[in-house]
Amino acid sequence: MEDHELIETVKEELTSYLASKKLRKTPERFAILEQIYSLNEHFDVDTLYELMLKSGYRVSRATVYNTVDLLVECRLIIRHQFGANMAHYEKAYNTESHHHLICTMCNKVEEVKDDELHNTIQEKKYNKFNLANYNLYMYGLCHKCMVASRKKPIHK
Ligand SMILES: [Zn+2]
Ligand SMILES: [Zn+2]
Repeated sequence: MEDHELIETVKEELTSYLASKKLRKTPERFAILEQIYSLNEHFDVDTLYELMLKSGYRVSRATVYNTVDLLVECRLIIRHQFGANMAHYEKAYNTESHHHLICTMCNKVEEVKDDELHNTIQEKKYNKFNLANYNLYMYGLCHKCMVASRKKPIHK
């Protein structure tokens, strides 16, 4: 799916969600959705708010927060809690499955794709549970922190 097609599709999704919940179709909500779908990485709400301002869109921080909650509810974005970090989000529609490697020292989050693992999970039948999606977080030390921790002088 091309980027502009994807944006049109998610806008339609949002339109029907708003209609089903009898919520107003405010231009802010669509502008925020569009901004999110132009990003290729995780973001927190403050970063999103700054991006909106930078692109010349006047919107309040509260509107950004509310819209993000709304988009999580209608599953157009997903919310991540990477360790002790504040919540991060990423687009959820039509995205490739990936896992997150989280460094517990520097809080860096790296994405990895593992089709084999993904397929294994998809094929699982746990108590006839019907799996829609899943998230896998792996915690540890990134290479940089691993090297740094080895170099640390030992205090006596
Ligand atoms: Zn690290
Ligand atoms: Zn991700």
